[in-house]
Amino acid sequence: MTGAGNDWSVVRLPESMAAKVTVMNGCWLWTGSLNNKGYGQVGVGGRVKLAHRVAYELLIGPIPEGLQLDHVRARGCEHKNCVNPSHLEPVTCQVNNSRTAAATKTHCVNGHPLSGTNLIVKRRTSGGEMRNCRICNLDSARRLREKKGAVRRYKTDARARALAGADS
Ligand SMILES: [Zn+2]
Ligand SMILES: [Zn+2]
Repeated sequence: MTGAGNDWSVVRLPESMAAKVTVMNGCWLWTGSLNNKGYGQVGVGGRVKLAHRVAYELLIGPIPEGLQLDHVRARGCEHKNCVNPSHLEPVTCQVNNSRTAAATKTHCVNGHPLSGTNLIVKRRTSGGEMRNCRICNLDSARRLREKKGAVRRYKTDARARALAGADS
């Protein structure tokens, strides 16, 4: 059992790393130790490093400073412990966060589908994108209007009560 499965490019990794990889649907799943965030870790020269970063640097090249490696869902990858460099893309922290949190949501907090005409996509200047729910957007705009109306009504009522109080 080499762990290399049917993807022989995995053998381009050092044997010590390839032995800890199981290939599944193109993903190179790290079977060695994981850190508390679920990323594979590997000891290199006495230091613990992130396995997917080590694999990327070995097979592709240096990761530009300050960038994170994103597991690209569009390439069929959603495994944090995947170390396949062709599934990894160096991105800024903001892009990575927006992809993992917002960009992968299929429904809004209220359960409306984030797709079709109900989906509003806004580009962030940071390069990420925001995905908003049209139903909720309209709803919160309506609530805001109602709130303003309620405040106005309350003030009117208060004036009326004050006048009434002044009368008695
Ligand atoms: Zn993968
Ligand atoms: Zn919604």
